[in-house]
Amino acid sequence: MHVHVNAAQSVDGKLSTREREQVAISGPADFDRMDELRAGVDGVLVGVGTVLADDPGLTVKEADRRTRRERDGEPANPARVVADSRARTPPDAELLDDAAATYVLVSEDADDADVAALSAAGATVITAGSGRVDLAAAFDRLEAHGLERLLVEGGGELIFSLFEAGLVDRLTVYVGSVVIGGRDAPTLADGEGFTDPDSFPQLSLTDVEQLDGGVVLTYDA
Ligand code: NAP
Repeated sequence: MHVHVNAAQSVDGKLSTREREQVAISGPADFDRMDELRAGVDGVLVGVGTVLADDPGLTVKEADRRTRRERDGEPANPARVVADSRARTPPDAELLDDAAATYVLVSEDADDADVAALSAAGATVITAGSGRVDLAAAFDRLEAHGLERLLVEGGGELIFSLFEAGLVDRLTVYVGSVVIGGRDAPTLADGEGFTDPDSFPQLSLTDVEQLDGGVVLTYDA
């Protein structure tokens, strides 16, 4: 699985406010860049925290891009994927509409009734791991469904786990020229954090681009 993480952060590293409300950190040019990224993958992954906070649809917005995908023999939109150990995704979540296939990755701890409700809402539920979703195992299962290129759109808890598991191939971060602050506001990589400097994931910076008054940083992991 090729895993590309993309996020927008304030200059102080926050993905949103301490109230975990969605805020516009970038602008139209960056939204367009993100739409092109979505149009180039088989699946878009978010954590259930992002689903509960933002209720995103995760579809390709530009009609020309959906047409291009269909011309290439792909579905108009990439599949939506949620990392959701306990099946907390609401069955009426936007990403369960019929615009694209939706996979919900759960762990063995998910309640059968909640899993059944998600299946009834049209999701393909994949069980991987106990406690939290075993992301590496879940990605193997997604590959068996034909998903080979995944774009991860947050949030910070999920992104940390992906780095911790060594699953990130590319990172693009839009750094907006705004300060959000707040010790409890989500950052690009939350989770437990790394303590041993030898374990810090080392990235190599491959591109810097000015956009919408901020910068896009591209790294290979
Ligand atoms: P998140 O990363 O979207 O979701 C975290 C949840 O995913 C965990 O609490 C966990 O819940 C579930 N999960 C399942 N398997 C996991 C695993 N192996 N590792 C980690 N998590 C796993 O949530 P978040 O960090 O709270 O981020 C949400 C915030 O980020 C919102 O405020 C949203 O607006 C913001 N956001 C900003 C951007 C941006 O680009 N600026 C993008 C996305 C989101 P269970 O234990 O129940 O499974």
